[in-house]
Amino acid sequence: IVHWPFSATQRRKLNWVQLAGHKGNFKAADEGTILKKFSENEMQCFEKLKCDALLPFVPGYHGVVEKDGESFLHMTDLLVNFDLPNVMDCKMGVRTYLEEELVRARERPKPREDLYRKMVEVDKDGPTPEEHSQRGVTKPRYMQWRETLSSTHTLGFRIEGIKKSDGTCRTDFKKTRSKQNVTQVFKDFVGGNSSILKSYLRRLSEIRQALQTSEFFKIHEVIGSSLLFIHDHTGNAQVWIIDFGKTTALPEGQTLNHAISWKEGNREDGYLWGLENLINTLESISNE
Ligand code: ATP
Ligand code: MG
Ligand code: MG
Repeated sequence: IVHWPFSATQRRKLNWVQLAGHKGNFKAADEGTILKKFSENEMQCFEKLKCDALLPFVPGYHGVVEKDGESFLHMTDLLVNFDLPNVMDCKMGVRTYLEEELVRARERPKPREDLYRKMVEVDKDGPTPEEHSQRGVTKPRYMQWRETLSSTHTLGFRIEGIKKSDGTCRTDFKKTRSKQNVTQVFKDFVGGNSSILKSYLRRLSEIRQALQTSEFFKIHEVIGSSLLFIHDHTGNAQVWIIDFGKTTALPEGQTLNHAISWKEGNREDGYLWGLENLINTLESISNE
C-alpha cells in the first residue's frame, strides 16, 4: 500500500502506462526516463533523428544502456510532466506491416490453425468457406484481413489504446473502424474540453509541418509508429511521435510521398494521409 503524500517516484509508478507492446519491453529508469527493449532498427532511427526537423517531436534519446544483462534504449518518459495524465496511442498509416514482412509471410504460405482460431475469435465469418473447411489461414491472408477490421485502411490511423486519468484503460479498439466511432472515442478522450482540443490541433499542425520538411521522413517507410496524445486537468496537452521499431530506410535515392495510396511495391505508408484524416476528425469535434 502506498500512503499519501506520494513521493515523485511513487507518483510516476502510479501514472506510468503502456498502451501497446509486450509488458516486458519497458522498465523504469532514472528520474523522468524509461528503458525500451533494444532494437537495432529503432536505435538507428533515434541516431538519425538527432539532427532532423522531427527532433522536437520525438522522445529525448539518451543512448543504449545495459540492465540485468539486457540492452535497452534510454529515453525520456513523456508522462513525467503531467499530473494524472490521459493518454492515447494512435498507430499511424494505412498498413502496420512492412512490405518485406508480407513477402516473407508468402514464402511458405501454409494454412495455420492458430491464425484461423485468432480470426474466428474476432469474427466467426472472417474465414472463407475454404478456410473454414481446412481450419487454417495463411499468414499473409491473416495480416491483410486484420488491417481491414480497424480504421487503418479507411482512415490511415487506428486507436491502439487509451488510459484516462480516472485509471480506466481500454485497448479493445481492434474493430473501431467507422469515422463516427473513431470520432466518438476522441470526444470521450478529451471530455469536451475545447482548449485541450485546440492545443492538440496546434501541435498536430506543427508535426505536419515538421514532417513536410524532415529529411528522415522523406527516405523512410514509417510503419507501426504512433502519435501519443497526453493531457491532464491543468490544461497541459502534447502529442509525440513514438515507436520506430519498424521504421525502415528506403534504398539509396528513393523517397516516399506518404499521402498517395499503397500499391504493393511502392512502399507508401499513407502517414500524411492518415494525419490529415486525424486532424479533420479533431476539427470536426472542435467545430461542433
Ligand atoms: P508495439 O510495436 O506493439 O506498438 P512497442 O513494444 O514497439 O509496441 P511502443 O509502441 O514504443 O512499444 O510503446 C508502447 C507503449 O508504451 C505506448 O503506447 C505508450 O503508452 C508507452 N510509451 C512508449 N514510449 C514512451 C515514452 N517515451 N514515454 C511515455 N510512454 C511511452
Ligand atoms: Mg507502438
Ligand atoms: Mg513497435
